[in-house]
Amino acid sequence: MKVPRYNFHAQFAQGLPELTRDFERMLLEGRSVLTAEVRAFEDAFAKFLQVQYVRGVGSGTDALIISLLALGARRGDEVVTQANTFHATVAAIRLAGATPVLVDADDETFGLDARRLDSAVTARTKVLMPVHLYGKPAPMAAVIAFAQRHGLAVLEDAAQAHGARYRGRYVGTIGTIGCFSFHPSKNLAAAGDGGAVVTSDPIIEEAVRIRRELGQVQQNNHIAIGLNSKLDAIQARVLSTKLPFLSDWNGRRRQVASWYRDRLAELPLRFQRVDPDEEHVFHLFQVRTDRRDELLRYLREREIDVVVRYPVPVHLQPAFHDAGWREGQFPVSERVAGELLCLPIRADMSVHEVDYVAECARAFFVGSG
Ligand SMILES: *Cc1c(COP(=O)(O)O)cnc(C)c1O
Repeated sequence: MKVPRYNFHAQFAQGLPELTRDFERMLLEGRSVLTAEVRAFEDAFAKFLQVQYVRGVGSGTDALIISLLALGARRGDEVVTQANTFHATVAAIRLAGATPVLVDADDETFGLDARRLDSAVTARTKVLMPVHLYGKPAPMAAVIAFAQRHGLAVLEDAAQAHGARYRGRYVGTIGTIGCFSFHPSKNLAAAGDGGAVVTSDPIIEEAVRIRRELGQVQQNNHIAIGLNSKLDAIQARVLSTKLPFLSDWNGRRRQVASWYRDRLAELPLRFQRVDPDEEHVFHLFQVRTDRRDELLRYLREREIDVVVRYPVPVHLQPAFHDAGWREGQFPVSERVAGELLCLPIRADMSVHEVDYVAECARAFFVGSG
């Protein structure tokens, strides 16, 4: 049996003929930039999230850079985020001209440890940037309370958490501004790169809109330095086809995660903690073991598409050597980088696939005999 990580057939089961008919029409009409398709998706996603504004951009990374620019982060400002995250979170801070400051991960949630925020904040801190890592909401009550106490903006990196909820609210809409990615690997996936910035603040919305369009307010009138990064019409059309299924797909991911947890409960594996006041959307299903690399090889040999996210923590990546971060500085992040393994998880995954993965994992730990 083969257990893949993605099944694009299942994602397009509905609506493919209509989609290709629309592509043909769009290509022949020559309409491709900020069209009605983009506005339709922005409106639909805003309605889904119960937020005032959604602005489509070129990628999740661009969403983060544009949001930081819109919040006024500039050279000398510090942005606090977590050491256990994808490269793009920290790269975006540097690309916006600001200085990233990291806090270590929590040993049970693998995400931001809000108890460590105190030691990271200085007079130069401008923005807090929690990441809803692997689809689990960050501890937003603590983050928001901390931000209010220190007068900071909150930028949520929700690139892995479309549709996840924290105390009933969709992540991305709890802080000042939220960012999503529609990279083909994500829970809501375009057919290429795409991203979105969401906010309910009209002043920030305008700053975002201007900064995705080269700082232009009318032709030849550029009032800020921005990116040229807009969600393209074809991707918006793909996303509109998929959005109505997102909640159902997330529910199925939760079902697959609970199958895994039931079947793996007896093995020497740890799982990301799930809290009662949240709806995790399991972008990734992580298991934790100090025999990670052996287990990875064992499952790969059995055609199970497991993967490591992320084997080298951000602070030890060569790209950030000039930041002065050292090995041992964020020990929890370093430990999880060495111990986490993502099992395949898809909305269309069958219980038979989960059974097969669980049998192979059991055979690895306790032998097949
Ligand atoms: C994917 C991702 C991004 C970047 O999104 P892209 O669309 O790939 O640019 C940023 N942050 C996190 C946590 C991500 O997983």
